[in-house]
This record gives sequence, structure tokens and C-alpha cells, in this order.
Amino acid sequence: MIHIQGIIFDLDGTLVSSSLNFEAIRQEIGCSPTDDILSYLERLPAAEKQAAADIVYRHEMADAESSTWLPHARSFVEQCAENGIPMAIVTRNSATATAVKVKNNAIPIKHIVTREMSSPKPDPAALINVATQFRLPTSALMMVGDYKYDLQAGRNANMATCLVNFEALPYFANLADYTFAHFGLLQSAFFSALQQRRCGFL
Ligand SMILES: [Mg+2]
Repeated sequence: MIHIQGIIFDLDGTLVSSSLNFEAIRQEIGCSPTDDILSYLERLPAAEKQAAADIVYRHEMADAESSTWLPHARSFVEQCAENGIPMAIVTRNSATATAVKVKNNAIPIKHIVTREMSSPKPDPAALINVATQFRLPTSALMMVGDYKYDLQAGRNANMATCLVNFEALPYFANLADYTFAHFGLLQSAFFSALQQRRCGFL
């Protein structure tokens, strides 16, 4: 972890809570349980697409209004900000819902990529673009998330991958270079590595 100079976070289920009921959304828009909701929306004929998108939007806004920081995430992000660690959020959520979550929780991250702006994870395009803007090689960045798409996107971008927020290791944990059950553990590991680097041990 000593080589990590910047961090990209997933938003929902990583930094802040998400109470999205994907099962209910799928049922309302007619998407099968095995299909990806965003891909399904893309494939719908124009006549049905808007109504389905409106349903997804309604669920996302209700979720955004009730979203709060997940345990220890705020402390970690604030310590990163104090230490000048470049940070970004790459989310599959919409720009509007993301803006509500960022504002309500006073998340101190300016660089935010939502699904309107780039291909959704696991496509690595948004992550690679963040690395370019940070003027860092992708290998110096770490993608932190709670789901396989985050880890797959990180791997696809040649970044370190970090899984957080779990009670038991999920089936896709093999995609993670680091696993921390909560942000408090990531915070200890990351800042002791940073201190080592700054002391010139690298
Ligand atoms: Mg997530």
C-alpha cells in the first residue's frame, strides 16, 4: 500500500449508505433478476425507455435523501483531504442523486464522475481518465469499493483494488488486492504506509 498516491472511491455502499431496492426496481421496469439494470435501460425501445428511467430516478432520489456516511468513512476521507491525497468518486449513480448525497453529507471530494459522464464500471475508462487528470500512473492509484464492478474496473485500469464494508468476505473478494471489513482498518493501514513513505523508507 506504500506506493498508493491517490484514491478513487465508489459512492454507494462504500462512502455512504444506499437503500436502493434493486429487486423492486427490476420488478417495476421489467428487468430480469440476472440482467444489469443500466444495460437493460439502454436496450429498451425509445417509447419505454423514458418511463423506466423515471422509475429508476424516483428510487434513486428517495435513496439519496436518506443516505448517510458509512462507519469510519468520513474520518478516512477527511484525513486524506488533510494530507493532500488526490481523491475522486466514480459512481454508477446519476449526477442528480450523487449531488444530493455529496451535499447532504458534506463529502470533501470535488472530482466526481457519474454514469452520464462515462461508461459504467467495470469499464475502466473513467478510472484511467482520473489518473490522467491527477498526473499519476494508474498503478499509483487505488480503487476502493464494495462490489465486484469496482474491483473489476480497478483491475481493468491496472490499479490497486481495495474491498471495504463487509461482514464476511464475498465471492468476488479474489478481485481485491486489499480487504478491510471497515474504513477504520483501511485508515490504519493506509496512514502507517504513508508515514513510512514520508520517512523515506521507500
Ligand atoms: Mg457500491
